[in-house]
Amino acid sequence: MRTDTLYVSVAIDLALDRLFTYSVPVEITEKLRVGQLLRVPFHGRVARGFALALTQETPDFRTKPVLSIEDEAPFFSPELLRLVRWIAIYTHSPIETVLRAALPAAVLKPGAKAKELLYVEPVDRCGGHPAGSSHPLTTYQQKLLAEIHRVGGGWMQQLVREFKTTPATLRCLAEKGFLSIAPRVARRDPLAGRNVLPTRPLQLNDLQASALSIILDGMLKEPGSLQSPASAVLSRPVLLHGVTGSGKTEIYLQAIARMLDEGKGAIVLVPEIALTPQTVRRFAGRFGDRVAVLHSALSDGERYDEWHRIRTGAARVVVGPRSAVFAPVANLGLIVVDEEHDPSYKQDETPRYHARDVAVVRARMEGARVVLGSATPSLESWLNAKSGKYALASVPARVAGRALPTVRLVNMEDEMAKTGHLPIYSSLLLDAIHDRLERGEQTILFLNRRGYSRIVECAACGWVAECPDCSVPYTYHRADHCLRCHVCGGWRHVPSACPDCKGTDFSYTGIGTQRAEAALQRCFPQARILRMDADSTARKFSHDDILSVFRAGKADVLLGTQMIAKGLDFPNVTLVGVLNADVSLHRPDPRASERTYQLLAQVSGRAGRAEKPGEVYIQTFAPEAPAIAAAASDKGFAAFAAMELADRRNAYLPPYCRMATLVFRATDEKQVRTWAELYAKSLADWADKYNSRTGSAGLFRVSEAAEAPLAKAEGWFRYQIVVRAPATKDIVAAVKWLEEARPIPKDMRLAFDVDALNLA
Ligand code: ADP
Ligand code: ZN
Ligand code: ZN
Repeated sequence: MRTDTLYVSVAIDLALDRLFTYSVPVEITEKLRVGQLLRVPFHGRVARGFALALTQETPDFRTKPVLSIEDEAPFFSPELLRLVRWIAIYTHSPIETVLRAALPAAVLKPGAKAKELLYVEPVDRCGGHPAGSSHPLTTYQQKLLAEIHRVGGGWMQQLVREFKTTPATLRCLAEKGFLSIAPRVARRDPLAGRNVLPTRPLQLNDLQASALSIILDGMLKEPGSLQSPASAVLSRPVLLHGVTGSGKTEIYLQAIARMLDEGKGAIVLVPEIALTPQTVRRFAGRFGDRVAVLHSALSDGERYDEWHRIRTGAARVVVGPRSAVFAPVANLGLIVVDEEHDPSYKQDETPRYHARDVAVVRARMEGARVVLGSATPSLESWLNAKSGKYALASVPARVAGRALPTVRLVNMEDEMAKTGHLPIYSSLLLDAIHDRLERGEQTILFLNRRGYSRIVECAACGWVAECPDCSVPYTYHRADHCLRCHVCGGWRHVPSACPDCKGTDFSYTGIGTQRAEAALQRCFPQARILRMDADSTARKFSHDDILSVFRAGKADVLLGTQMIAKGLDFPNVTLVGVLNADVSLHRPDPRASERTYQLLAQVSGRAGRAEKPGEVYIQTFAPEAPAIAAAASDKGFAAFAAMELADRRNAYLPPYCRMATLVFRATDEKQVRTWAELYAKSLADWADKYNSRTGSAGLFRVSEAAEAPLAKAEGWFRYQIVVRAPATKDIVAAVKWLEEARPIPKDMRLAFDVDALNLA
């Protein structure tokens, strides 16, 4: 039945997988919009929730009225709500969890608001001259007033500091009518105090210029013509494949500048780890105040202000990690996903969205262009470019004719035969470091681990100290001589004797950054070594501090984990050493080879970025492994991708299928196994029906239920099922049916990941 009454469906700010319908009182009907935050009655209290849809259809149950509109400016545009709905369906997640992921928590915190400070302004009195007034002023006051007139006003705190006066003095001048003092919104600027120098566009080389024209193709207004509406052709994504040091960032900057000229906004996604002030400075240097930064290290206040600057349109360029894909940029022209292959774009909790995929969908919905940039694209994006679904823009050479580094493999098997033990540094690498120290050039050493030594093993019987709650070995930390679990954070002291054989001789095998640092210092006592890993960068900007020291040439060697692999641009680095290339190769994961290649190519790309040529040494036990051999060959990414894609096609793995995981958790191992097996059996039945119905020759495949690679975490046993199918929606349909037909017990957990990036 239709009436004049308006109804609104509301997502209450709770993790309930359903919407609630309220009637809209006539007084607020005019003002109500979807995307607004409302106050509604909910189980005898007042709750907040987002208006998702309006209807005049009368529901067949009794409704309560909306109490009020909390904020008239919508938090979500209709376009963003569409995107949120798409994610909820695609990832099979409650819509509230998507809404929450799309909005910084700081914005919704009760009491969150703009910060106001007292602002002092001179009052213009007959030409601004205080003399001759009915209030005689002291010489001091006159001088102070003249100064304030000169600077034109300022924040009270600032003036007090600058002119060595007191708030009382200023208030006194205000009472006499010479000054006005009033609260004003003060921006909490995350870049305050970091000197950002303005930069000008560089002259693009031919390769960059043609990549830029592919990116802008069809996006700019023709002179003299009306803007054409967004069409399917307009929104074809562009894969920007540019080798390391090819000047991709400059291309992004110039594409964004053109969008701003057109009155459009832009979002730049960067991997969290690469979101250093160095990266932010490159954007702020070009676009100044028009840039908003969303960074996990921001304070709540900074985040609140940045988000509101985006919503009001004060900021038109947003730089941030994966969640910035939801930034409320109006009239969006461009989304850049830098290092698009980076796994940090995937959220590993509900909603398990991939920001790159969300960027592609958002751009399509809003008629914007999306650019996926990388030196080592994901095979998903590469295949899309090869098939013509994406446009491909290639920048195959470094800027200014600089050469890519020469890459050498060092077989550690040989090193071991030569020396009789396994050294951390091969003699080849040591010689190369020695050369750099002599020449005053810099070295980056990459190690994919942390901690002083990795594990503690009984030298007599081989017992390994493991966390009892998680199925991983403890990591030994030298600083406090204790064992830490990197899954649950638990710790214990090193045992005095082996619990199995009572032996007291422990070996501390494996290499950690601290041990690698100590060993290098022994070889080169004079070398100035900087170490960067999760331990050394716990503080807010210490990441940046370490990098500035290195950039300023105050250190010879930078030794670190993944955080030094990407994005860094140091002109004086001519040597990169990878201490243990194989670490990421032996993971039980279909993408292990791809990840290894990406990591090696990215870290190699840090060498020789300026005039001096670069050299890379990769220490490995597996020089024939395709990913490692390819990283050292000059055939480049395309050759590796062709080889790896052929393997994936043969094995029916992504990107030739969709791969989802179901991970079951319970504290009772028998229970979790029973349920995982039940689900696996039911899914296999579903697969049989699907395959015979579609005649698809077994394209819907279900693994056995098995212990997950991480078999136990925080006391929970974990079992896993892997499902492959031609389309995600087929997998979602199967899982939805099963969840309804066979709901798992309350004391168990099921995590469903539609596009699982790794098996864990
Ligand atoms: P990428 O992101 O592709 O690794 P960058 O954007 O970091 O490369 O560029 C590498 C270096 O080259 C930077 O120092 C950058 O300022 C410089 N650069 C980029 N484009 C040009 C150009 N057209 N002319 C001169 N230098 C450039
Ligand atoms: Zn643990
Ligand atoms: Zn033992």
